Amino acid sequence: YLYQKIFDINSKIDISFEFFPPKIFNKENNNFLSSIKKLSIFHPNFISITCTPRNSEINYTYQAIKNIPKTLNLNIAPHITYINNINTITKLSKKYWNNGIKSIVALRGDVISKEYNSEVYAFQLVTLLKKIADFDISVAAYPEVHPEAKNANLDLIHLKEKINCGANRAITQFFFDVNKYLKFRDRCISIGINVDIIPGILPIMNFQQLKKFINLTNVYVPSWINNIFNNININNIHINKMIGLVICVDIIQKLCKEGVNKFHFYTLNDFEIVYTLCSILKQNIKIN
Ligand code: FAD
Repeated sequence: YLYQKIFDINSKIDISFEFFPPKIFNKENNNFLSSIKKLSIFHPNFISITCTPRNSEINYTYQAIKNIPKTLNLNIAPHITYINNINTITKLSKKYWNNGIKSIVALRGDVISKEYNSEVYAFQLVTLLKKIADFDISVAAYPEVHPEAKNANLDLIHLKEKINCGANRAITQFFFDVNKYLKFRDRCISIGINVDIIPGILPIMNFQQLKKFINLTNVYVPSWINNIFNNININNIHINKMIGLVICVDIIQKLCKEGVNKFHFYTLNDFEIVYTLCSILKQNIKIN
C-alpha cells in the first residue's frame, strides 16, 4: 500500500482540524462548510473553530458552529479569547455548554488595540471555564517561544500553569523544523507537563503570504524550504500546494518516527492538502 511506503507507522493516529468562521454565510462561496464536510469523512477527534479577539465579532464563531450540520456528528471545539469582555465570554461559554459543546480551545488572544487589557492571561480563562462547567480544554503552546515571553523557561512555566488550572492538552503553534518541536516536547516532560502536546501542522498553501505574516511569530523557516520555493520560477498556486504537501509529508514522517500519534491541522478552510494527506494516512487514522 502507498501509505505503508510513505509513512512507516504501525500505530493508529488521532487527527483534528482547525477552521475559521466566515463573516458572511454565502452558499456559492462557503469554503468553511464545504471544507468541514469534505474532511469530516476522516473521523477527526475534534474540529476547532477559531475566534477573533474583536468584541464586535465574537459571535461569528457561535453562528458558524450553528451552521455545521448535526448529521456530521462532529465533536466541535470553539476557540475563546480571554481579552474579550468577561461577561460576554461567560454568557457565551454557558450557551455553548447548554447546546452540547463540551470542548473549548482557551486562548488569551492577541492584543490588537489599546482598548484591550494586555495584563490578562489564558490560565485565567481556563480557571473561569472550569468554574462554569467541566469543559474539556485545549490551550496553546509555542515550541519556538511566544513572541511576548520574557524567555523560554518562563513561557514553559506559563504553559504548565494553564495545565495546572485544568487544561487537558496543548496544541502547538505551527513549526517547520521538527527538531524544535521535539526539543520542546522533551522540555515539557522535564518540567512535569504530562498532557499531550499536539503538533499544529500548517500546510504551506501560499509561501509568499506565509512570509508576510511569519515575521509576527518566532517560527523558523529552514533554508531547505526557502530554497525549494525560491527555485520555482512559476508563481502558481497549484505548484505551491504540491510542494506544501511534500513538506507536510516530510514533517509527519519525522514526527511519526519519534512516536507522535496526534496531529492538529490548520486547514485555513482550504481542504485540498489536508484531504490528500489524510487520504494517504487513512488506514492509520483512528475512527473517533
Ligand atoms: P497566554 O498563555 O496567556 O500567554 C501569552 C503570553 O503571556 C506568553 O508570552 C506567556 O509566556 C505570557 N504569560 C502567560 N502567563 C503569564 C503570567 N502569569 N505572568 C506573566 N506572563 C505570562 N488567537 C485568536 O485571536 N483567535 C484564535 O482562535 C486563536 N487560536 C489559536 C490556536 C492555537 C493552537 C494557537 C497556538 C494560537 C492561537 N491564537 C489565536 C493566537 C493566540 O491568541 C496568541 O498567540 C496570543 O498572543 C497568546 O495566547 P495564549 O493563549 O498562548 O496566551
